[in-house]
Amino acid sequence: MAIHVVKRCPGASVAKQGLENDPVSARIEAIRQQLGDELLILGHHYQQDNVIRYADLRGDSFLLARQATENHRAKYILFLGVMFMAETADIVTSPGQAVLLPAPQAGCMMANMATGRQVRECWEVIESNFHQQFIPVTYVNSSAEIKAFCGEKGGLTCTSSSCEKAFRWVMEQGKKVFFLPDQNLGRNTGVKVGIGLDAMAVWDRSKQQLTGCIDPSLILWDGYCPIHEQFTVSHIQQLRQEYPDIQLIVHPECPHATVTEANASGSTEMIIQHLQASSPGSRWGIGTEINLVKRLAREHSDKEILSLDERIGPCPDMMKITPEDILWCLESLLQGEIRNQISVRSEVAGWARIALRRMLDAGC
Ligand code: SF4
Repeated sequence: MAIHVVKRCPGASVAKQGLENDPVSARIEAIRQQLGDELLILGHHYQQDNVIRYADLRGDSFLLARQATENHRAKYILFLGVMFMAETADIVTSPGQAVLLPAPQAGCMMANMATGRQVRECWEVIESNFHQQFIPVTYVNSSAEIKAFCGEKGGLTCTSSSCEKAFRWVMEQGKKVFFLPDQNLGRNTGVKVGIGLDAMAVWDRSKQQLTGCIDPSLILWDGYCPIHEQFTVSHIQQLRQEYPDIQLIVHPECPHATVTEANASGSTEMIIQHLQASSPGSRWGIGTEINLVKRLAREHSDKEILSLDERIGPCPDMMKITPEDILWCLESLLQGEIRNQISVRSEVAGWARIALRRMLDAGC
């Protein structure tokens, strides 16, 4: 999968971006040069342009965590993303590396829909009704605590592109999947592996009970991404009416009906690769976060790339990091202080690491 490497060209990046007169940008660049290889800045694709321009590497959450693991020289890893991504990076990096999140208030609305206490309550119900039939699988877009829960209960993590493999890993053991926190990704994957919609149950957090099938083959937590949840079948139909030749790709965090109606669905990296490989002159409708869609449209000006609905997004959590936050963190490092470091408690990190390790061992 592609990682976009932005080379640090001494003195060039600021000038190229027309930011030479921007004091914040100039100062960030100066500190980056000063810290050299001790600093690695990782940026998620959903970040705004005025933030992602500082990233050494761009990618989705798991690819960035993997980059953090492989980069042993970096003493400081500045994560331009949200809390669960920084937590994952902290879990997989070595003790001598510090992971910093410039805006620690940048959570994730979907990850926040599953707390450790809520999930343990649900698990008690699952265990008492379906004794040892289920194994928990969590999307990496979840807190360290939820990853740890999965590790402790014999489960694993997965990404949007490896979710199907994770489901099969569970099914090959003769067990069933309890998937969290994103019901859309879980439902879309369940259908892919042959589970009918009528064989699924959903844990309703507000009622604290299972709804749907009484003898389910798949149990879904009722979380969702409030951005992707908004892309509908009617968005697709409207675009098709306007542009009969358009191809539509949506993220699997979109509702099942939307995914079924689209031409294809796939992870952020898959969408990027698909557009890179497409022919000049082709026309695309994309159902994912708007900062990424607009950037792709600019980077592929030989193609027409449209959002399913430009009024949806951007992700408010991803928008919380500003260049001023980045500068504040970097200035602190020069003064010998590590600010906004994300440290996952060791007992949580231990179990979460096991869940992440199982994902890699399962080839996910
Ligand atoms: S886009 Fe959705 S899943 Fe991603 S950080 Fe925002 S709320 Fe969370």
